[in-house]
Amino acid sequence: MTSDAAQPFPADAPASAALLERARAVVPGGVNSPVRAYGSVGGTPRFIARGEGPYVVDADGRRYVDLVCSWGPMILGHGHPQVREAVAGAAAEGFSFGMPTEREVLLAEEIVSRVEPVERVRLVSSGTEATMSAIRLARGYTGRSVVVKFAGCYHGHVDALLASAGSGVATFGLPDSPGVPASAAAETIVLPYNDLAAVERAFAERGSEIAAVITEAAPGNMGVVPPAPGFTEGLRRITAEHGALLVSDEVMTGFRASAAGWLGLEGVPASGAPDLFTFGKVMGGGFPAAAFGGRADVMAMLAPEGPVYQAGTLSGNPVAAAAGLATLRACTPEVYARLDVVADALTAAVTESFGRHGIAHRVQRVGSMFSVFFREGEVRDYDDARQQDAERFGRFFHAMLRRGVHLPPSCYEVWFVSAAHDDAAVEATVRAIEESAAEIA
Ligand SMILES: *Cc1c(COP(=O)(O)O)cnc(C)c1O
Repeated sequence: MTSDAAQPFPADAPASAALLERARAVVPGGVNSPVRAYGSVGGTPRFIARGEGPYVVDADGRRYVDLVCSWGPMILGHGHPQVREAVAGAAAEGFSFGMPTEREVLLAEEIVSRVEPVERVRLVSSGTEATMSAIRLARGYTGRSVVVKFAGCYHGHVDALLASAGSGVATFGLPDSPGVPASAAAETIVLPYNDLAAVERAFAERGSEIAAVITEAAPGNMGVVPPAPGFTEGLRRITAEHGALLVSDEVMTGFRASAAGWLGLEGVPASGAPDLFTFGKVMGGGFPAAAFGGRADVMAMLAPEGPVYQAGTLSGNPVAAAAGLATLRACTPEVYARLDVVADALTAAVTESFGRHGIAHRVQRVGSMFSVFFREGEVRDYDDARQQDAERFGRFFHAMLRRGVHLPPSCYEVWFVSAAHDDAAVEATVRAIEESAAEIA
């Protein structure tokens, strides 16, 4: 069966359901990351047997156009030959040494050469580790403890950054999750995104305590919400005035929004570049590799050069570094051009089909990163993003799934495309969008 099948797939997925039952007996909720459980859309999460270019094949042998792409990393699609070769070659030489290797140098050089303000970089194993380490470094460098983040921005599951409740004026963060001590969240100020006045007020009140502002370079974790013109520049100006650092989280946008991430699209703000950047997803090529980096004098605070401790048994793992390096090297201008073509086709299809069937929607996009909000009108912050018809999205998700297209199972996520999404995959998706829109209208 393929996505070209005339008949939609049945609604149930017996092999995935059986695996889920077994998984639940030994893994909380049966999944190793919560959003995989289809919590907000219902139904049986598909267990994936393998990936092929733009497709994933589930345990029942059904093939789907993959618009999850591992939540971003698979920018080249599944099983890209150059990446496979690099991984096999690295693995043949050993899996891990706990001693430095040339591959780490090559990957660090690749990152530094692409993102101009990044002078030094340290490799870690996940985006969470990257933001956690960047925050520790910012606190160590400034000798201050308070961190400002924005509601709706996700920076991994770092205690201090899980606080995202609150809107309006400077809200003292409350923990979003049990297990995050109030003391950790108390050091976090959560502000509404795209609201420079709120940032000014927070700094007027507590500027001398604030170590850093961390922001998604262009948020993708509340759906795509681009920074308003002047927002990044304003953040840089305000933080600099108060001696705080600006941390630009490019874990999702890095090497995806453009070859140099969001920075490559927006350029270095007139007020100056962010001090620190975090990367992950694409730069690991599907393996656990991530990084944080930035100004040489700030990075020099890290052990062993400086006193801020940060370490990792598997940091810079040679197989992961090989996958990341091969992926970045294969991300040619043609690859980014293809991502744009795919994003153009899918956003046009949504606009046309949803328009035709009278479905309230809003498409927002940065580079080839886009998401579809099930509401009308511009989405500028998390409060806007939450005014969506999530129930309707759930019906759309399942209509697409039965037609062989696997969207991210949440209305707050980017629809991730890859350069392997060829015309056949795009056409199948466009057809599914039209039919699914008709179904949910
Ligand atoms: C995915 C993501 C993270 C967390 O990365 P993990 O590898 O899942 O820990 C952090 N920040 C942003 C912007 C992300 O999209």
